[in-house]
This record gives sequence, structure tokens and C-alpha cells, in this order.
Amino acid sequence: MKALVYGGPGQKEWKDVPRPELDKQTDAVVRILHTTICGTDLHILKGDVPAVTEGRILGHEGIGIVEEVGSGVSNFKPGDRVLISCVTSCGRCSYCKRQLYAHCEDGGWILGHLIDGTQAEYVRIPHADNSLYPLPEGVSEEALLMLSDILPTGFEIGVLAGQVKPGDTVAIVGAGPIGMATLLTAQLYSPGRIIMVDLDPERLALSRQFGATDTINSGEENAVEALFAMTNGVGVDVAIEAVGIPATFDICQKSIAPGGHIANVGVHGKSVELHLEDLWIRNITLTTGLVSTYSTPMLLQTVQSGAFHPEKLITHRFALEDMMQAYEVFSNAAKEKAMKVLISADA
Ligand SMILES: [Zn+2]
Ligand SMILES: [Zn+2]
Repeated sequence: MKALVYGGPGQKEWKDVPRPELDKQTDAVVRILHTTICGTDLHILKGDVPAVTEGRILGHEGIGIVEEVGSGVSNFKPGDRVLISCVTSCGRCSYCKRQLYAHCEDGGWILGHLIDGTQAEYVRIPHADNSLYPLPEGVSEEALLMLSDILPTGFEIGVLAGQVKPGDTVAIVGAGPIGMATLLTAQLYSPGRIIMVDLDPERLALSRQFGATDTINSGEENAVEALFAMTNGVGVDVAIEAVGIPATFDICQKSIAPGGHIANVGVHGKSVELHLEDLWIRNITLTTGLVSTYSTPMLLQTVQSGAFHPEKLITHRFALEDMMQAYEVFSNAAKEKAMKVLISADA
């Protein structure tokens, strides 16, 4: 089969590799129908994630058809259409018992990281009963693909960890795919205002279409001052960091209102300066996390009910064999006006 294979920092190739086979009785092999590229894949290609070794097939998002299951798999059978979760969970360990699937002792984020991933014609999914979801009827597969990673990540680590409540003023710093997923799912809780902060006017315009009430271009004005001006000098109730650099974290900690919540979603490669000398007296909380995807069943129902349309995040479409071109576009997201790229096998 063909797959996108990591060859060390800066190196990748779409090439022939052996098709995956069942390894344990709890595995399934899934034929990929749709996959996509995540910002994390670009981090891996830069060499920021050294646990990923040469020869690894990348990708942790996908929709597919079950090809084969081990004798220990009871929820799925060949021919079933499934959503692949970016997080693998055994369902039995102490972390899984607390729904902290991100830290599963025999899973967590392993796809396209510690084991071969979804940017391929076929993928092996361990603990298939807990790590796959049946596709609901009548919902576009393009919408459901956004539930592998970005929607549960934005929802669990941004909206739920940030405790967004009706009427709240929420700032989302970063209007990339994760920021947009946070924007879409925050609206389930009816905040009073959602203020999107980014450097890219195109992305800010798009965020208004997706429900942002206000936008701040942090390249043109001081974002912290603008956030205070918009809130009568109080600050925001929830500040969600969706970039992963010191400057964006700083906007969050400087604009938070007393009693507010800072939810960090971004992947940080550098240390940030935490201003506890200002924050200690403000009764704020700061949360971090890797998605556990415990909210996936709820998000599946919300998408099925038509509460929001995550397929709107897809800006570009490619065939599986054009994987390298899809990477080219996604790597130049600003220039290409790309948000999420859909990569599909022939039907
Ligand atoms: Zn991802
Ligand atoms: Zn587990």
C-alpha cells in the first residue's frame, strides 16, 4: 500500500510500504476513506517531536471502513464505517477508568506518533472497541472527520477546561483549525461574546462567519489593551490559548478578569513567563491538557443534530495519492488560505 512516511526532520515520502496486519486480538485494520493533516504533523516534520522515529507513517485523524477485526473485537465487524479517534484507549487501566484516555497505559496519542498512523491506505487500530466510533446515519463524512482530533481538542481542552458559561466573554487567541474548533464548540454554551485574536485578517474574517462576535488583529493593535477596552477595563472571563508561543500565552494571562479561566490548548516548544506576581490575587485558574476524546459521543450527536457544521473548516480537497501536494498547501496555510485539508481515497 501507499503511505506518508516520515524520514527524519524535514523528510517525508509518499511510498510503498507493507499493509498493516492484525497484531493483537483487540486490533482492527481499517481502510482509510478520508484523512487530513494536523499542525502536530508539521511539528513532527520539523523534528519537534523526537519520539517519532524514521519510517513512521504519520497521521492521527481519519474516517474509514473496517477491513478486518481480531477475535477480541466485539463492537465492530468488516464493512462498518468508522471514525478513528486520535487517542487510543484500552478502556481498562486506571486512567481510562477516569476518562483520561490521553494517558491510557496502553494507548493515548500513539497513532502517527509511536505506531503507524492514518495517512495511508490502511491503518491498524489497537483497542478497536474503545478507539473507533460507528458513523451516525445521515451526517457528512467530511464533518465527522473533524471529530477525530480538532473538535474534541478545542472542546475539552478549551471550552470545557475553560468552563465557558452562558453570558461569558471569551477570548480565543489563535484562529487556526484548533481555534476555529474551539469557536464552534464554545457556542454550545451561549457565551455573550467570543473575541477572536489573530494576525491574519483572512482568518479573522472567517472566524466572524463561524460565530465570533468581535475580532482583534494583534499585528495592528495591542491585543491586551483592546480586550480591556472591549470589557470596560474588566478583562475576559475565559482566555483560550490556541497557538503555543509565549506571546499568545502572555495575551491570555494579561487579559484575564478576576475569577477567570485561562485554558491552554496550544503546543508549546519554549518556556513562557508566568506572571504569578500579578495573578496570585486574581482567583484565576490555569488549565492544560492533551485531548482524551471522552466528548466524542456527545459531539457526534451534536453534529448529527445539525447544531454546527464542522465541514465548513475544510478549505482544500485532495486525492490520497496527492498527499505530498496536500502537505505543500497545508504547510503554507496563510498564503494558500488553508484551514483543514480533506484527503480522500477513491470511493
Ligand atoms: Zn492533531
Ligand atoms: Zn487505558
